[in-house]
Amino acid sequence: TDQSKIRNFSIIAHIDHGKSTLSDRLIELCGAVEQREMESQLLDNMDLERERGITIKARAVKLSYKALDGETYELNLIDTPGHVDFNYEVSRSLAACEGAVLVVDAAQGIEAQTLANTYLAMEHDLEIRPVVNKIDLPAADPARVKQEIEDVIGLEAQDAPEISAKMGINIQAVLEDVVHHVPAPDGDPKAPLKALIFDSQYDAYRGVIVFFRVMEGTVKTGMPIRMMASGAQYEVIECGHLLPLGMEPCKELIAGEVGYLTASIKNVKDTRVGDTITGVERPAGEALPGYRPAQAMVYCGIYTEDGSKFPDLRDALEKLQLNDASLSFEPESSAALGFGFRCGFLGMLHMEIIQERLEREFDLDLITTLPSVIYQITKTDGTVVMVDNPHNYPDVGAIATAEEPYAKVSIIAPPDYVGNIMPLCQDRRGEFKDMQYLDTNLVEIHYSMPLGEIIYDFFDTLKARTKGYASLDYELSEYRPSELVKVDLLLNGDQVDALSFIAHREKAYPRARRLCEKLKDNIPRQLFEVPIQAAIGGKVIARETIKAMRKDVLAKCYGGDITRKKKLLEKQKEGKKKMRSLGSVQIPTEAFMAVLKLD
Ligand code: GDP
Ligand code: MG
Repeated sequence: TDQSKIRNFSIIAHIDHGKSTLSDRLIELCGAVEQREMESQLLDNMDLERERGITIKARAVKLSYKALDGETYELNLIDTPGHVDFNYEVSRSLAACEGAVLVVDAAQGIEAQTLANTYLAMEHDLEIRPVVNKIDLPAADPARVKQEIEDVIGLEAQDAPEISAKMGINIQAVLEDVVHHVPAPDGDPKAPLKALIFDSQYDAYRGVIVFFRVMEGTVKTGMPIRMMASGAQYEVIECGHLLPLGMEPCKELIAGEVGYLTASIKNVKDTRVGDTITGVERPAGEALPGYRPAQAMVYCGIYTEDGSKFPDLRDALEKLQLNDASLSFEPESSAALGFGFRCGFLGMLHMEIIQERLEREFDLDLITTLPSVIYQITKTDGTVVMVDNPHNYPDVGAIATAEEPYAKVSIIAPPDYVGNIMPLCQDRRGEFKDMQYLDTNLVEIHYSMPLGEIIYDFFDTLKARTKGYASLDYELSEYRPSELVKVDLLLNGDQVDALSFIAHREKAYPRARRLCEKLKDNIPRQLFEVPIQAAIGGKVIARETIKAMRKDVLAKCYGGDITRKKKLLEKQKEGKKKMRSLGSVQIPTEAFMAVLKLD
């Protein structure tokens, strides 16, 4: 392989600006896939990803491109996940590249993720090549968007290719641009091996398949290797290139190349994203920079509706974890819900994806508890505990200081919406940092905001209040002292552990009231009156009452409306099928889930 003919690049974009569509076109144009074999959006591998239109895991493909100068280039296109939850993975993929193609929608112009991804690419010193996409749209205004790219990002953009990925217009200009402006990789093929892992995938037959970029040295078949962070040692069984429709084994991969290897690796935990692969015989002195262990931001309890399915849930989580080192779980039990798992996620989207996969791919009916962030509690005896489950919250008397995680939040929107955005951020206990005009029709607002406020549908509310125009990006910054309280819910005097939550004192009251109301609305009447109470420590802060049944229920159906009466009785019968006992109170599972649902 001739290093000078290699080009490693990513495509970066705001969601929906056309990254996946352009990837398809580039693959097509390089003739790597026959038209009829071309499955739409090859890089988005899983069904779920395709349905949701997002890319969950990073992937890479090698393309051979015969350029107009007559030379054939090896292009490695590295796909990056498109969501803020996966920002670390994105950063490792970018570290494997020399360049990035920045796709901007010719009608929408620059949006929050356009900037966020561009900044990430700049941090890795990538050569950024803007491309204006969707020029076929009636609302397209490529000249305005190019100007915006120059004004806002400061990139030379007048010569940027104007394309339509969908219609296949001007795609070759993108490849020519990459070949002539993205630098070839360097790195000495004879130096001790340093290869950067940017993804891995579990395969039932071959074990873990590791995706990497060789930064220095050479990877060879049969070579003993070591993962520098995890310390795990293996022998390379196979290495090769990643083609759009499969893998192509080869003898060796030299510095600058992107590829895969297998080595009978049992667990993706031993092939962490960002770790450095080196040789056992001639190890590198130090690892590549930027490695960070995966960090869960959001936790929730996951239970099966049918308690006897607990072992199935464990098997399913273990299977998912084979492929997802950032998913963590450990057993927990709840008086209300039985046996389940406390699961940690990178963010809310990651959480939703896992829940959905458990339900779809493993056919499980789940009950999940309210999501929570990790609180940091310093106890009066000086010990520090990290609490991700309200159940483990220390007694008030044992707490010296309670702290919650804060995130740096960046919102980009047209100035017209600032009046809607700022009160929302204030309401979420955001601390205003600054606001700047990116140009006359785009402002960027910075807040410091508790992570716990962001995970509660902040993104959806923001979108709703700005007609979808605002975009959000955030990253965890630090822990700050906070007035936290643990709220317990009591039904007929019995505490329901699955409904406890930790919140800021200010937020505890409205949330407690809301939960009590929802319980009242969703729990069917019992033979006796049931008080619902929310309490902090022993002090009741909200209450509702479910009146006794059953005469009352039927009494409401006056006169001859027999069908209504029948329906009601049937409903009650149905409800009896799946009941959960919470102390002395029976609750249909459905009602329970309705209460736990965020709103
Ligand atoms: P991604 O989220 O950046 O990967 O965006 P996709 O490639 O999934 O595209 C998002 C949507 O925009 C899809 O409905 C595409 O069909 C559409 N799209 C992509 N490129 C073009 C284009 O050049 N013109 C038009 N009109 N639509 C496009
Ligand atoms: Mg996509």
